[in-house]
Order: sequence, then C-alpha cells, then structure tokens
Amino acid sequence: EVGLRESLALINSFANEYFIKALWESEEGKSIGLSYFRERGFNDQTIKKFELGYSFDENDAFLKAAKEAGYNADLLIKLGLTKEGDYGKYDFFRGRVIFPIRNVSGRYIAFAGRTLRSDNKVKYLNSPESELYDKSSSLYGIFEAKRSIIKEDLCFLVEGYTDVISLHQAGVEYAVSSSGTSLTPSQIKLIKRYTNNVSLLFDGDPAGIKAALRGIDLLLEEGMNVKVVLFPEGHDPDSFARSVSGTELERYLKEEPKDFTDFMLDVMLADGGNDPIKKAEATRRLVQSLSHITDHIARSIYIERCSKKLEIPEQALYNELNKLLRKKQ
Ligand code: ATP
Ligand code: MN
Ligand code: MN
Ligand code: MN
Repeated sequence: EVGLRESLALINSFANEYFIKALWESEEGKSIGLSYFRERGFNDQTIKKFELGYSFDENDAFLKAAKEAGYNADLLIKLGLTKEGDYGKYDFFRGRVIFPIRNVSGRYIAFAGRTLRSDNKVKYLNSPESELYDKSSSLYGIFEAKRSIIKEDLCFLVEGYTDVISLHQAGVEYAVSSSGTSLTPSQIKLIKRYTNNVSLLFDGDPAGIKAALRGIDLLLEEGMNVKVVLFPEGHDPDSFARSVSGTELERYLKEEPKDFTDFMLDVMLADGGNDPIKKAEATRRLVQSLSHITDHIARSIYIERCSKKLEIPEQALYNELNKLLRKKQ
C-alpha cells in the first residue's frame, strides 16, 4: 500500500502538471497567465525552470480534472487544493498564476498563487500546512539554488518568490526566500547544510528593514556570518534586477553587501547620529545583537570594529555586553 505522504506527493505532482499545462496550452492560461509572466520580465526558459503555472478562473475546474484522474477528494482537501464550503467543494486557486514550492529533494510540497488583479487584497495565497508542507522549515528556491549556494559558499535570502526568480534569471542562482514568513531557526539550519554565509536582500521599505533586523539576530545565533544588502527605497531585488543592466546588478551585489553592524548603525543613526541619547540607544541595540554571537573571537573582532566606528571605548561595549550575557545565564 502506498503511504499517505506518497499519495499526497502524487497529487501535488499531478496538480503541478495540471497548472503548467493550463499556462502553456489553454487560451485563458496563455492570454492571462503566460502574458503576465512575460510582461513582468520572466523569459520562457525561466518560466519553465521554475515550473510556473496557471489556475483557471472557474469554480472547480481542477477538482473535476483531479477526480477524473482518480484522485481522492479528501486528500485534495488535506492538501488545501480543494476547499469545502456551504455550497460544495471548490478550487482553492482560481484565476491565479501558480508558483510550486519544492523541498530540497525537489518534491512538490505546496503552491503559492498570485492574483492578477491589483484590487485583490490577498496578493498571494499559499497552500496550508500539511503532512508534506511545514512552512517554517521550507525555503522557496532551495532545490534550484542549493548547488550554487555550495559553489559560491554564499546564500542570498530574499523576501519573495519573484525575487528568487528574477535573481536566478539574472544569473544569481544562490537566492532563496522565506516567502513572507519571518525567518525561522529551522530555515537557517537548512541553509547551514550548504554554507555559513548569508546576505539578507530585503525590500527597501520599513517592513523590510524590520525583518532584516530580526533576521540578523537569528542568523547570528545559528553561527552564521551575516551581511545585508539594502535596495533603494521602493525597490525589491526583483524590481531592482529589472531596472539595471546585468553588469550593474553584478556590481551592486558585489559591492553593496554591508557588514550587519554597519547596516544596523546606518539604520539606527540615519537621523541625528550625534545625539548622545540616540547613539547610546543604537549602541545598546547593536551590542544586544553581538551578544547572540557565540564565537568569542568573532565577537571581539566586531567589538573592536564597532568601538572605532562609534568612537566609544571597547571597554564600555564589553561592560554592556557582559551585562547582557550575565542576564542570559
Ligand atoms: P510581487 O513582486 O509579485 O508583487 P513580492 O514578492 O514583491 O510580489 P511582497 O509584497 O514584497 O511581494 O511580499 C513578499 C512575500 O511575502 C511574497 O513573495 C509572498 O511570499 C509573501 N506575501 C505577500 N503578500 C502575502 C499575502 N497576502 N499572503 C501571504 N503571503 C504573502
Ligand atoms: Mn515588501
Ligand atoms: Mn517585494
Ligand atoms: Mn516584487
């Protein structure tokens, strides 16, 4: 007998092929989905590489096809592909372009569907968690990126699906995304199988900065080396990659990564950097992040660097650090 997980994986494979076929072979898919992807700058090779798809704008087109192919409705519901409402069963993804989410070994564990309407409040719909999909330990793009992460000994962490895809298309294949959820320790451990070096490429908006600050502490706690790339206000990696030439992008991604300490100080001291109160606040926040670093030598190197940059004696930083470390015990 086939186990439950295997049955679910079979259904997701079927769904993936169904969505891909809908994108490439139906009039609706071609005129709405495929042209959407092309208009946003994805070339056909990229669309195929990421196995992007389309879900018909109909109530239960997928459900009918799945039932016809012999799949069990209860399992479709388990995977979140089918919903059950007061008036019967219907497709979860309707009239959306589809991004399959794969695990490290390439298995289809979930889907994300992007609306094509700018007035839709829910921009992305995601499969619910299931026996196959543990959101907090998945990273979008990890299957496509892992070889390159190993080769470059570096991982770019971005916010969204389209950021991963655009960067890959531009030749930067070591990018993965936590897909809108805040970064978790198990996602970091997944990256750590391949590299200890992570650069955060978050959107240049307040939410992106906040997420980066939070990500830094978690990454340090897992013993990662952390850098941050900030994009011009209003840009994310996808829009930025499309707004500059390939060489410009390459130069930006090579020169822009900042040490996390520089990033934090720049953000926190952006206005009124010489105000002693502000400077003290920023210093405390920075030292708090340094307290997550478990490697003592690395920590002392950062302390030395920050002391110079802030023009605050190392001893003052150590006093603050030791206070925090004592509290942790
Ligand atoms: P696009 O370029 O297609 O507009 P994006 O990736 O730039 O998408 P953001 O608004 O920057 O979208 O959000 C980043 C990520 O957060 C998305 O890629 C998606 O994974 C997740 N996300 C965004 N909106 C939602 C939502 N309403 N529900 C669930 N996840 C979402
Ligand atoms: Mn954003
Ligand atoms: Mn974005
Ligand atoms: Mn975007």
